[in-house]
Amino acid sequence: MTESTAHTSPGFHWNVERDGSSIRLSLSGELDVAVADRAAVRSKQQLAGIDGAVVVDLGQVTFMDSSGLRLLLDLRQTTFGLGIRLYLSRLSLPVQRLLDVAGLSHWFEYVGGVAPKFAYCPICEGELRIDVTRCPYCGSVL
Ligand SMILES: [Zn+2]
Repeated sequence: MTESTAHTSPGFHWNVERDGSSIRLSLSGELDVAVADRAAVRSKQQLAGIDGAVVVDLGQVTFMDSSGLRLLLDLRQTTFGLGIRLYLSRLSLPVQRLLDVAGLSHWFEYVGGVAPKFAYCPICEGELRIDVTRCPYCGSVL
């Protein structure tokens, strides 16, 4: 039985699916200081009664700054304290970049065991297979 709730702020959308003892948080839009604090409070409220896993899907996050990082680290600490596993699911390019630059990629566990690694075209930022030599979107030679 999956139960779903959604919250929307301008530019940011937040969906929670509760499935038994686990929850999946899907974030989309701009995760910045305007929404991160409220998202942190809400995410903690959602953890009540959870003893399975928390999965955070960041595949639709178009922008994230340090307040978004703080939200993730906060969640990590809270779930650790509660003995719950926290997994990151999909990472959008901005999220992947920020985690890499901050050196925090290895702080998290990922669905499937390894950080999702994508290659992106340096010209158009299209998502690429690792083995291509020409971008299928803009035609750039890589
Ligand atoms: Zn391209």
